[in-house]
Amino acid sequence: MKLIDSHCHVHFNAYKEDMREVIKRTLDHGVFMITVGTQRDTSKHGLEVAQRYDGMWATVGLHPNHTVEQEFWDNDELPPEEQATPKIKTRAEMFDMDYYRALAKHPKCVGIGEFGLDYYRIPVGVDRDEVIRRQEETVRAQFDLASKMNKPVVIHCRDAYPQQAIMIREAIEAGKLARRGVIHCFTGTLEEAQAFIDLGFYISFSGILTFSKNLQEVASALPLERLLVETDAPYLTPAPDRGKRNEPWRVEVVVQKLAELKGMKVEEVAEQTVKNTKQIFGL
Ligand SMILES: [Zn+2]
Ligand SMILES: [Zn+2]
Repeated sequence: MKLIDSHCHVHFNAYKEDMREVIKRTLDHGVFMITVGTQRDTSKHGLEVAQRYDGMWATVGLHPNHTVEQEFWDNDELPPEEQATPKIKTRAEMFDMDYYRALAKHPKCVGIGEFGLDYYRIPVGVDRDEVIRRQEETVRAQFDLASKMNKPVVIHCRDAYPQQAIMIREAIEAGKLARRGVIHCFTGTLEEAQAFIDLGFYISFSGILTFSKNLQEVASALPLERLLVETDAPYLTPAPDRGKRNEPWRVEVVVQKLAELKGMKVEEVAEQTVKNTKQIFGL
């Protein structure tokens, strides 16, 4: 293993035609991967795919965008038979502890997530406070699951880093989250990143690092011992291929950028991020 993509969705519908080829291409690059669940079906399916490959693991969880009905359907996520008619409202999934606990017992399940607070994608015309309350409830339930199953958490957070840090601190003070976790696809400030690191969390950078000057400054200032790299594929394709479907082997581009920012050799940064990913997920 040369590298690990610590967060991708290679089992999503975006790869329906060629998932085997994409996984093979990625493994041929020496890139291992953790494929991440976002709701009931994708959590279950990720484990099924991970089971077929050495060098692949999965996480299970309920993403905040799936806790509220919305007027979009992510066609990259589910196979057509799971999608009703196009552009129907998403189902608002209630977190089912028993369902996810059963999935979390799978030997390939290495974490709980992605879940968290997302203040960015709250639909218009709904009760914002109510949506946030639902998100918080779903976060607490998954903190409990991770604590009971002794797994790390994969946090998805947008426009809510201070609130997310408060929730994590409260859980830790209540004796939960012993395994801590990672803030995936981090896009916040240095102070926000530092708050999570102080709580024992890791920070993960995606392809956004290749084009965001602010994020480049943040990454330069953070200790490499606390950093992971990811693609979030099929989303967030790094420069120069922005707009195309992403693939997990492109995590190479994120590592190259990080090495450039740190003034280090690519191999050194690859080695350290692999070490960090193994440590947090117990691979
Ligand atoms: Zn996410
Ligand atoms: Zn994701």
